[in-house]
Amino acid sequence: MVSQTETPVADLSSDSDPERDPIIINQQLFNRASFYIQDLKTGLIEFLMVPKKTIHVAFPVELDDGTVRMFHGYRVIHNRVLGPSKGGIRYHPEVSLEDTMALANLMTWKCALVDIPFGGAKGGVVCDVKTLTQGELRRITRRFITELGEDIGPYTDIPAPDLYTNAQTMAWIYDTYDMLHPGRNNRPVVTGKPLDLGGSEGRQEATGRGCLYVAERILSKQLVPNLDVVEGARVIIQGFGKVGATAAELFRDAGAIIIGISDSHGGIVREAGLDLDAVVAYKEAHGTVVGLPDTLTITNEELIKYPCDILIPAAMGNQITTDNADQIKARLILEAANHPVSPAADALLQKRGIVVVPDILANAGGVIVSYYEWVQNNQNEAWELDVVNYKLRGKLFKAVDTVVERWRALTQIHLQAQTTTESEIDDVGVPDLRIAALVVAVERVATVTLERGIWP
Ligand code: NAD
Repeated sequence: MVSQTETPVADLSSDSDPERDPIIINQQLFNRASFYIQDLKTGLIEFLMVPKKTIHVAFPVELDDGTVRMFHGYRVIHNRVLGPSKGGIRYHPEVSLEDTMALANLMTWKCALVDIPFGGAKGGVVCDVKTLTQGELRRITRRFITELGEDIGPYTDIPAPDLYTNAQTMAWIYDTYDMLHPGRNNRPVVTGKPLDLGGSEGRQEATGRGCLYVAERILSKQLVPNLDVVEGARVIIQGFGKVGATAAELFRDAGAIIIGISDSHGGIVREAGLDLDAVVAYKEAHGTVVGLPDTLTITNEELIKYPCDILIPAAMGNQITTDNADQIKARLILEAANHPVSPAADALLQKRGIVVVPDILANAGGVIVSYYEWVQNNQNEAWELDVVNYKLRGKLFKAVDTVVERWRALTQIHLQAQTTTESEIDDVGVPDLRIAALVVAVERVATVTLERGIWP
């Protein structure tokens, strides 16, 4: 069964908590950013906010015990103005259409901000990988991709890994698409593939590595008092998956002290610094980091509030809200996950001088190297790791410079506006790095939208 809805979509967000509702969050942030963008007309605003296409598929899969279960999958293509849409596919029990729509929107701004020729998309299947076998996951993936049909493609919409999907999932996606479209180079249809199937050197580590590059550049600009370098910084990371585990390793290699880490079971802390090799070995043996000898066990909620210099949420959204923002003790928060800090929490953190580097900048390393993988696949080439990392670093440094420069300019505009249009500017709030990043991204997509014009 396949049902496809062309936009506009219904209001999906009316019953939920506004602080945690991803669609309301995106709308609020867009409204704040658009205050600083000239000539955004109503029709253009609507075009930029409403997803181009939302897809909901429901399909049966036979489980290993012979029973049949229905699964629900989503793919939302938010915008394709800059190029084919791009975005991860996640497998998680909490996947929903609303969340997928909001994350697709975020991908549009992320690609625009780091200046890659992609639009935004996101997808997911409602399932719990911890209860499924590899065979079941393979069948779910193949059926989901078959249901998506011509909605994905190397030059239309290109999936990638996300929560609880990995290079193996991407290999199945490639294979399924290739079986249905034989006789051509289909490698660019999906990124994050295994290396020998056209994956890029450095893709698996790209999001965590990107976090490190962004942190280095941000700190070099003296935005955080007495914290100019990663070396010696005390770091806490929530999540020990593809992003969190890589970030931990790379920040350690850059001289940081990783004092806390967690997974879905809970967190561990060691003031003198964790031995990451021991953490990895323990996680492999026990399925969790919790219980590693010589560490203090704490909850994820306690971990987020634990004193440190740099906090990296690298797991789920909505981790820092008005419930805990006034208890956060980090000085810099790098959003490796998407939407981990709510807009209301942003304001509280800003008042307390805590700098938040927004998701569309902090975790953009993944989509940048996905873009490099797509380029390599199109050229039938394989770049050396050094080349990939060099390009990634340059792209992210440039994006950080652009965002910080724009943030400084917006701060001036805000100060001046306060003396003239006080009530309106009070609603907009003091600009932060998130608003600056969004202004840059929305401006880029808006400009190209107007250049292209409406079809027909
Ligand atoms: P992953 O599935 O590899 O790892 C997820 C980790 O989060 C695991 O360690 C898991 O135990 C932990 N976790 C799950 N639920 C948790 C909870 N309630 N509390 C604490 N920890 C929990 O996923 P990933 O690819 O590392 O992605 C992590 C985040 O980064 C996601 O929000 C994803 O959207 C975002 N992200 C990923 C990429 C990428 O390239 N993989 C790119 C950009 C953003």
